[in-house]
Amino acid sequence: MPHIRITDVTKTYPAQRRGDRAVTAVDSVSLDIERGDVFGVIGYSGAGKSTLVRLINGLEPVTSGSIEVDGVDVTKLPERRLREVRQGIGMIFQRFNLLRSRTIRDNVAYPLEVAGWPRARRAARVAELLDFVGLSDKAGAYPEQLSGGQQQRVGIARALAAEPGILLADEATSALDPETTDEVLDLLARVNRELGVTIVVITHEMDVIARIANKVAVMEGGRVVESGPTYDVFTAPTSDTARRFVRTVVRALPDGDALAALRAQHEGRFFTISFTDQGASDARVFGALARAGIDFQLVHGGVDDIQGRVYGLLTIAVRGDDAALREALAGIGPGVTITEVPDAGPAGNGVAA
Ligand code: ADP
Repeated sequence: MPHIRITDVTKTYPAQRRGDRAVTAVDSVSLDIERGDVFGVIGYSGAGKSTLVRLINGLEPVTSGSIEVDGVDVTKLPERRLREVRQGIGMIFQRFNLLRSRTIRDNVAYPLEVAGWPRARRAARVAELLDFVGLSDKAGAYPEQLSGGQQQRVGIARALAAEPGILLADEATSALDPETTDEVLDLLARVNRELGVTIVVITHEMDVIARIANKVAVMEGGRVVESGPTYDVFTAPTSDTARRFVRTVVRALPDGDALAALRAQHEGRFFTISFTDQGASDARVFGALARAGIDFQLVHGGVDDIQGRVYGLLTIAVRGDDAALREALAGIGPGVTITEVPDAGPAGNGVAA
């Protein structure tokens, strides 16, 4: 049984005023999120990600469809039972949402107060949580005395207070600089690994997905246009939206100006050869090209790291036709693709439009 099963869920907001149109924020979405997943949901602004999150924790009713958490359909529960389910779901936010007038210790204690934990047990749990997020020395400080990354770590401690099995992270690193983003993502990875918490990460940043999500769903216009293991979506995206997101993080493809400069320097047609970790490597690609006597020059390339796995992209200039190139590379392993680089932009394993 999946930890969260979303089946054919639609959420339509009725028109606010006469003449307005109803908005279908989430449109026929089905997803299975397994226990222990770090499941990424990526999409541009307005794609329906936040709405989907609010439906998962029952903050808003669905228009149709069902959402099962631990096998219980939360769309059918009365408010009282829903509150119990929500205790098993922690949440963190882009703006951290800490209480400014409370100390760090009291912020983390807050959900436990609401849940009626006795004072001594509360204090012990808060100490344990602050230790876990590395902020024991800040217990008596106030939120404004902490950096953004530290505040988000407090947010994580607070979200974990009542030992939820699920953590929903809505743009949790979008307000942070790259360094602090790393610190927060490392902590989320630890929450998943050490505490076994299932995490749903909502983001518009593909590098966040590459860093921590083992699976990803790409949303557009309320629909899931593509989903699967993160590595598969990165190395063989099938939708235009996924391709656009992948291009924002795959560093080994030449783009606009760099590509124009490379063309000025090198003769021949440009091809990008991509390979996954299914047996191929740059050494094997070069070896095969050399053995086949192909006249080529490496013009750009490198290896990207996606979820700790290798994804290689090599752009070469070739004099002659590409049939020989394809033949030379046919035998070196699965997961190798050859794409001609269009004049206007980058190529590589479908990563080009
Ligand atoms: P995302 O999180 O991907 O940016 P949202 O889920 O916030 O997307 O929004 C999806 C669509 O639903 C948008 O068109 C948005 O304007 C609309 N929407 C979201 N919440 C409401 C609401 N409470 N009432 C009416 N429309 C809404």
